[in-house]
Parts: sequence; C-alpha cells; structure tokens
Amino acid sequence: MHLNTKLIHGGISTDPITGAVSVPIYQTSTYKQDAVGKPKGYEYSRSGNPTRFALEELIADLEGGVRGFAFASGLAGIHAVLSLFNPGDHILLGDDVYGGTFRLLAQVFEKNGLTYTTIDTSDLSNIAENVQKNTKALYLETPSNPLLKITDLKGATTLAKANNLITIVDNTFATPYFQQPLNLGADIVVHSGTKYLGGHSDVVSGLVTTNVAELAEKIGFLQNAIGAVLGPQDSWLMQRGIKTLGVRMREHQRNALKVAEFLQSHPAVAKVYYPGLNTHPGFEIAQKQMQGFSGMVSFELSAEEKTTAWVESLDLFTLGESLGGVESLVEVPAVMTHASIPKDKREEAGIKDGLVRLSVGLEDKRDLLADLSKAFEKVGL
Ligand SMILES: *Cc1c(COP(=O)(O)O)cnc(C)c1O
Repeated sequence: MHLNTKLIHGGISTDPITGAVSVPIYQTSTYKQDAVGKPKGYEYSRSGNPTRFALEELIADLEGGVRGFAFASGLAGIHAVLSLFNPGDHILLGDDVYGGTFRLLAQVFEKNGLTYTTIDTSDLSNIAENVQKNTKALYLETPSNPLLKITDLKGATTLAKANNLITIVDNTFATPYFQQPLNLGADIVVHSGTKYLGGHSDVVSGLVTTNVAELAEKIGFLQNAIGAVLGPQDSWLMQRGIKTLGVRMREHQRNALKVAEFLQSHPAVAKVYYPGLNTHPGFEIAQKQMQGFSGMVSFELSAEEKTTAWVESLDLFTLGESLGGVESLVEVPAVMTHASIPKDKREEAGIKDGLVRLSVGLEDKRDLLADLSKAFEKVGL
C-alpha cells in the first residue's frame, strides 16, 4: 500500500463487528470476561482499548514499526521512552530539541540519575566525539525545533549502531508523510500527535512506535505501568485527523515555501530558516531523506528590538504556542516554547531572543503574505 492509501486504510480502518468505516469510540473502562481469567482480548482500558489500539496500529503502519503506542501527550510518550533507561545511563541529546523534552531530562530524569550531553547532531562528528562508556541512546529531532536544522539520519544511525546506541527520533515536524526515520536506521520514533498528525489544534496526544520487538515489549510495559494513555475520544480524533494528513502536508509545504521565499526577499529580514530553501545548510540532506519540507519557517529581523511589535502586528498568524494545525501560528521561542531552556544554552544553540517561528497553516497564501507585509509596514520596516 502506498502512503496516501495507508492514511485512509492503514491500521484498523473499519469496525470488525459492524463494518462501520470510522472506528467506533469504545467509551469504556472495563470489559466483561467470558469466564474467570478469560477476557475477550481487552481487560481494562489503561492496558488496552479498541479505539486506541486502532490508532496505535495506524502509527506503526505509517512509520514502519512493529507496534504503536498512544499517550495522553507527546511528553507522556517521551517520558515512557526515556523510562527505558537506568540511573547512571547517559544520553546524547540534540541541542535544539523541543523545550519540554529538555526540561523533562534536566528537571525530572536527571535527578533520578540519568545524565545527558547536548550536541549539535547536524554535525555528525559531534556524535562520536561525545559518546561515553555509559551512553545508551541518541535522541534527536530533524528538522529541529525551532532552527529547522537537518541531521543526516542514515549517517547518525550508522554511528549510533556502531556505538550500541538506541536512536530515538522525534518526527513531529516532518510527520511520517514526509520522513520515515525507522527506514533510515532509527529504533524508536516519537511524536507530539498534538501537532500535524491531529492537525486541527483540538487534541493533545503523543504517539510512539518502534521496529525492534524487544523495545516494543518494554515500551508496552512502561505505557501500562506509568499509565499516561490516550483516551478513546482523543484516539478517535487522532484517526480522523490522520486521514487527511497527506493533503494537509502538501498544502502546508506549498504555503510555507511561499512564506519562506517572501521573507528571504524582504530587506528587513536578516535570516530565514527553512529546509526547502536551497540556501539552507541542510537542503541537500533534506532532499535525500525527506519527501517534503513541512510547514515550519523561522526567521530573524535585522532590527531585533522590533521583534515583539512585529509579531503583535499580525492578525491572521495567531500568536500562540503549538504548531501543525490548519490555522497559521506565530511565536517567539526564547520567551514562549523554549523559555524553559536557560538563556546561555539557548544562545549556544543559536536560538536568539529575536527568533520568530511560524507554523504556516492552510489559509490562502495571498492572505498570509498580505498579513506579513502589513506587519512590516506597521513597525516601519
Ligand atoms: C509539542 C512538541 C512536543 C511535546 O508534545 P506535547 O503533545 O505538547 O506534550 C515534543 N516534540 C516536539 C517537536 C513538539 O513540537
């Protein structure tokens, strides 16, 4: 099956009992057993629920995993994955990962004995150079957030394998529609389903999948043991969103490229970060390992002091955190999504206070460009 077909028919796309083409919402916590110790397949909805299971099968199908797992949020999924490791273990962490991922390691796992080193994974030499005897995993995002840095996944996973590291890729920005990290050597893929996969800014969720049976077994145990599972209503919303992932991603990318080109040609803009521009340092690798460049664009104004005023002058681009929904959003990472990263670490990673991140939505591109133009005029640029 091709990806566009899998989005509609992958996982469990019809109800086996009634034939309903939309998987029913099994709003139940428990299940009648045929006899003592003889459940029909489900026992308790933390351990398993048919609506959630259909979503879990779907994400595994889309990413090429052996099993999928749905969580109450992206961070809940990342928490379960990081719980694979033990006190004393060390993790190599991409230096501009999602702020919440950094916070989870720095403020929750570190006090329980997990250690980490942040590295720029877009430069592969940093991987081998920072591996320690106790390093167990490489955790990265590509394209990264918010600088859209590209890491060569084949190169990185080859190095990780040579050092016996588990590679974990946060594929939230690309989605399986544009990039399948497991096929490029990664072991575990995590998603904030809240973003492009859900796609409509109406559900918070996390998805995890792996193509290693032993890891799937362990993650399944942790999902049930920790218990931050996705409810049946939200699991249904996620499946509804994923059916249109292809058409949405193609359009997000078309609009994003127009926005990136517009910004790049604007005299008041100092720098544009979009992996679909041939001026982007990761353009060639992105072309090789991705089937599209997604809808996220970041940039810096030359007049950094006007950043706040510029952002507040927009109307169609809604000021807010999150990304990947049908509506365009704008945010300033240093004071919003990435405020939980200390300033010195942020600057080390190249995230300046004046960086602006756009999630380009599905509105008509003429209206989006007009909104951007108006903001420049309003602040006198
Ligand atoms: C939002 C986000 C997360 C966290 O997901 P939640 O659903 O908000 O918990 C993780 N990684 C990336 C890249 C994100 O954008």
